[in-house]
Amino acid sequence: MSHISFDNTEIAFASKSDADLNRSYLLFTMVSRTSWVKIGKRFTNIAFSLRLPISGLIKATIFKQFCGGENIDDCANAIKALGDYKIGTILDYSVEGKEAEEEFDKTAGETLDTIKRAAGDSNIPFCVFKVTGLARFALLEKVSAQAQLNTQEEKEWQKVKDRVLRICAQAAATGVPIFIDAEESWIQSAIDALADDMMSQFNKQKAIVYNTVQLYRKDRLEFIKKSHSLAQKNAYLLGLKLVRGAYMEKERERATAMNYQNPIQNSKEDSDIDYNAALDYCLEHINEIAICAGTHNEKSSLHLVELMKKFKVPANDNRVYFSQLLGMSDHISYNLAQAGYNVAKYVPYGPVKDVLPYLIRRAEENTSVKGQTGRELSLIIKEKQRRKKQH
Ligand SMILES: Cc1cc2nc3c(=O)[nH]c(=O)nc-3n(C[C@H](O)[C@H](O)[C@H](O)COP(=O)(O)OP(=O)(O)OC[C@H]3O[C@@H](n4cnc5c(N)ncnc54)[C@H](O)[C@@H]3O)c2cc1C
Repeated sequence: MSHISFDNTEIAFASKSDADLNRSYLLFTMVSRTSWVKIGKRFTNIAFSLRLPISGLIKATIFKQFCGGENIDDCANAIKALGDYKIGTILDYSVEGKEAEEEFDKTAGETLDTIKRAAGDSNIPFCVFKVTGLARFALLEKVSAQAQLNTQEEKEWQKVKDRVLRICAQAAATGVPIFIDAEESWIQSAIDALADDMMSQFNKQKAIVYNTVQLYRKDRLEFIKKSHSLAQKNAYLLGLKLVRGAYMEKERERATAMNYQNPIQNSKEDSDIDYNAALDYCLEHINEIAICAGTHNEKSSLHLVELMKKFKVPANDNRVYFSQLLGMSDHISYNLAQAGYNVAKYVPYGPVKDVLPYLIRRAEENTSVKGQTGRELSLIIKEKQRRKKQH
């Protein structure tokens, strides 16, 4: 196994032309200003409600940076461009916030289409879905709270289970592993129960279904151990995507408003400690747990590389994957892939208007902290300077 360094921007941006790099530079410079992101967010929301023709502008800028296209066929270029550098694609239908039964059926159909597209294509090693794309949020909340469902809700819940089953059965039939994303803690119990059920059905020979564990929660290291015991007891393999977690503010606000203890770790350091401890635990039990490290954290990624060496897990062992989001942390993805590790990037897609909430989150994530240049922007600047010296 080669020595890994994430400093090499030449490898990180090898697939990007000077024009691509300049576009990214402009975009990250703009989103680095908190006030611009706030104004941009308000402007796009107003523009869409007034039906102003701004889709083209968004598509050429922020959408191009973070999304693969508006539909599966549109993503062909992104899949090929990543595949050329041995990086897999995870097609992520990123339409959010729908609440109608027809929309849930549509999302289930779309997810089945991603599985069909992935089958037999080594450039698409996983598929993914969010349970909130298939179920009403309030219903998931009720199931998670173990509240009594009325007859109508029972029927609705059965439909949700049917959608999840159809997707996982198709994944198993085509041999395409599938991630179930993690969401807010007050709907997560319902998601975990669905994931356990699917893993017990489909993970007998190999990990097909992966649950997601958010290590920013205080209770999740224990949860991993319990999930492992359950898998051992019922003789199936555990599939886990490990992330830190994306809903920290929402979690804190709800806990304060409803006066219960915040489930989130007391500090970033605590999240980091548990994340790396989760990697330790999974690698120690690699014969029973397949993992995907969904992280942009350099230290955690290097920690996993070290663990693979320690436990003599080959770089290309398909029980260990690294994953980042399209348009972010290419220095991690491309350097790991170049060294022979398994890497796949989430490639979000969907109609411009519908993926807007996803894009706004990416912009907000890249605003400057205390006036410092953000990491993505620093890397782009470094690569621009390197190219300038060469010319
Ligand atoms: C491939 C992939 C898949 C993902 N899937 C999911 C998913 O299914 N569900 C989901 O919720 N998220 C998901 N995420 C997002 C993820 O949870 C993180 O929000 C994001 O990746 C940033 O964390 P990091 O590990 O990359 O790195 P870092 O930048 O090192 O960590 C930032 C994270 O640390 C935690 N944190 C920050 N400050 C504090 C604090 N004061 N106290 C406690 N914790 C803190 C937060 O989780 C924050 O997001 C995914 C990310 C990737 C790359």
